[in-house]
Amino acid sequence: MSAIAALTCNNGSGPDGVGSTSRGLTHPLDCGEKGAGVSLPIEESWRPIPGYEGNYEVSDLGRVRSLDRVLTCGSQRRRFTGQILSQFPNGEGRPTASINRDGRPRRVLVHRLVLLAFVGEPPAGHVACHNDGDCTNNRLSNLRWDTERENQLDIVRHGRHWSAQKTHCPQGHAYAGSNLVTGSRGGRACRTCRNAGMRERYRARVAAARAATEETP
Ligand SMILES: [Zn+2]
Repeated sequence: MSAIAALTCNNGSGPDGVGSTSRGLTHPLDCGEKGAGVSLPIEESWRPIPGYEGNYEVSDLGRVRSLDRVLTCGSQRRRFTGQILSQFPNGEGRPTASINRDGRPRRVLVHRLVLLAFVGEPPAGHVACHNDGDCTNNRLSNLRWDTERENQLDIVRHGRHWSAQKTHCPQGHAYAGSNLVTGSRGGRACRTCRNAGMRERYRARVAAARAATEETP
């Protein structure tokens, strides 16, 4: 079962309606991940989502819930019961949740909600990073604000950089054995193509020098 599917399981331990942190809720988050019928009690801490206090909370396990609330729809006042919100992946596979403000739904990235609620606003230029490289693991223990550079290094470290997936250079030479060298910018490079380029530039220099000599009277 995917992490997103596991997160969307509603196990019946709904919101307690308390808008502040409530440590100590125990419930089976595991919905069969580690064996059918096995429920593990997991401590889960909830905090209000900044800007949505009193309406929505996010937990340190990466779940989002609405709270019991009364909303005015036109001339009517309607009562809504809080519930665990389903999460859906965006185009990049990152879990999102739909939360309302002023009657308008907004789709928000869950990892940002966790960090905003439990860590605070990011320093300038920082982005949300997943320590284990799994963008569906939105537990607080797996998240941090960090620089875009560190985020890119994470991708390389976890072997998911698009360049690391390539097995051959654009000319079809294998990135393997003695043909695999380090490029001038630190990435992987093809020795065959690099040597061909050096020969080409050498020939061009020789031809230019010869032309300059011939032009000289
Ligand atoms: Zn090559």
